[in-house]
Amino acid sequence: MEPKLVVHNTLSRRKEVFEPINPPHVGMYVCGPTVYGDAHLGHARSAIVFDLVFRYLQHLGYKVRYVRNITDVGHLENDADSGEDKIAKKARLEQLEPMEVVQYFTDRYHSDMAKLNNLSPSIEPRASGHIIEQIQMIEDILDNNLAYESEGSVYFDVEKYNRQYHYGKLSGRVLDDLMSNTRDLDGQGEKRNPFDFALWKKAQPEHIMRWPSRWSKGFPGWHLECSAMSARYLGERFDIHGGGMDLLFPHHESEIAQSVAANDTDPVKYWLHNNMITVNGQKMGKSLGNFITLGEFFSGNHPSLTQAFSPMTIRFFILQAHYRSTLDFSNDALLAAEKGYERFMKALNTLTKLQASPVSSVEVEPIRQNCYDAMNDDFNSPMVIASLFEAVRIINSVNDKKETLNTADLNLLRETFSVFTGDILGLKPESGSGADNSVLDGLMQLVLDLRLNAKTAKDYATADKIRDQLSKIGIVVKDTKEGATWEMN
Ligand SMILES: [Zn+2]
Repeated sequence: MEPKLVVHNTLSRRKEVFEPINPPHVGMYVCGPTVYGDAHLGHARSAIVFDLVFRYLQHLGYKVRYVRNITDVGHLENDADSGEDKIAKKARLEQLEPMEVVQYFTDRYHSDMAKLNNLSPSIEPRASGHIIEQIQMIEDILDNNLAYESEGSVYFDVEKYNRQYHYGKLSGRVLDDLMSNTRDLDGQGEKRNPFDFALWKKAQPEHIMRWPSRWSKGFPGWHLECSAMSARYLGERFDIHGGGMDLLFPHHESEIAQSVAANDTDPVKYWLHNNMITVNGQKMGKSLGNFITLGEFFSGNHPSLTQAFSPMTIRFFILQAHYRSTLDFSNDALLAAEKGYERFMKALNTLTKLQASPVSSVEVEPIRQNCYDAMNDDFNSPMVIASLFEAVRIINSVNDKKETLNTADLNLLRETFSVFTGDILGLKPESGSGADNSVLDGLMQLVLDLRLNAKTAKDYATADKIRDQLSKIGIVVKDTKEGATWEMN
């Protein structure tokens, strides 16, 4: 019998056998980005980790509905209930309509995720498109007497909830500690307790994103969208909720409280959390200002980077660590990932050319088994990669005539290597990967510089000719605010 998939559940703090509520269906909800800036390495990690989970569950034959939201409203600056909406602030700074900011960064997020070879979620709902569901959920919580209205806003009554249920069951936080640790923030005078969180916030006059409700013209609190949208698309109780560890508290803790308060149902069976990317031991994040965007990695255009790193190098780097471990960024680690990825791709190529022998001098079955054992043990991608490196060693040895494989073993090796590398880890060959990359980059820079010279001299015929000729050979030139960029089609 195949060993069963075991996942680490943050709720129980243990590994548990994965048994979906309604097999073969699996419902999975993952907190997506707040779209007010470009995605950085931390966003890539969460997306790649849950892409791995999505891919593997599908490989096992489950029918997975994967919902990942786009937060386009209600995420206040200091993650508490005061401050400015992150998207409205960006819109004001750039004098744009908020939805323009949302569209722009959503498109860029999708483009980055596609480059990383992440599969699209089944549904990608937006908070602003689910205001009615969120208002209904607030009504349900009010009906159950676990929220209160104050000055046109509605707050969740954490202390009252905690008398009946357990606020802190996911994060392990204790309410008494929260009481003494909560900082003094403005808007707090409206709350009964400082740790109560907003379900609905009355919009201040300068706040541009607002919707009508019976309490005020305002907007929903940040935690609410995930509770409302997960219930809408996956039901009141579903299998997996994922996200970064930084979302554990207060976001996910509050999601549980809202769902229990509205539906009297614990919403999630398995909570999965990926750990953070660190830079010199400190978390990488937009609010900390030490982040590197994915675009900067792909172009190499950042003072902390010694060179450009391709999307597949980034993917390999992230998969080389177990998702619950921290992963420290460095140029050396990325260079090692680049080498590892290239060895995989070379082996994939060599594998197609290998010839079978009458007998095998080496066993292949244990590699296949080790790969499954590793994935079944809480998606242990670094162990899968270690086993695949053993496969690479065999591929090269057979190619060098130092080892032999019979037809059955060669087929098994081909299947195992391509299924785990491609379908499950999601690695794919990149055009121009390897040493010739720098030559191509240099040539393209020269061509784009010549085109810029032509444009500056108002010689648009030449500039257009360069772009059109490149297009004919499959190189797409895009003009951006920062200058022209190119990519292979
Ligand atoms: Zn969320």
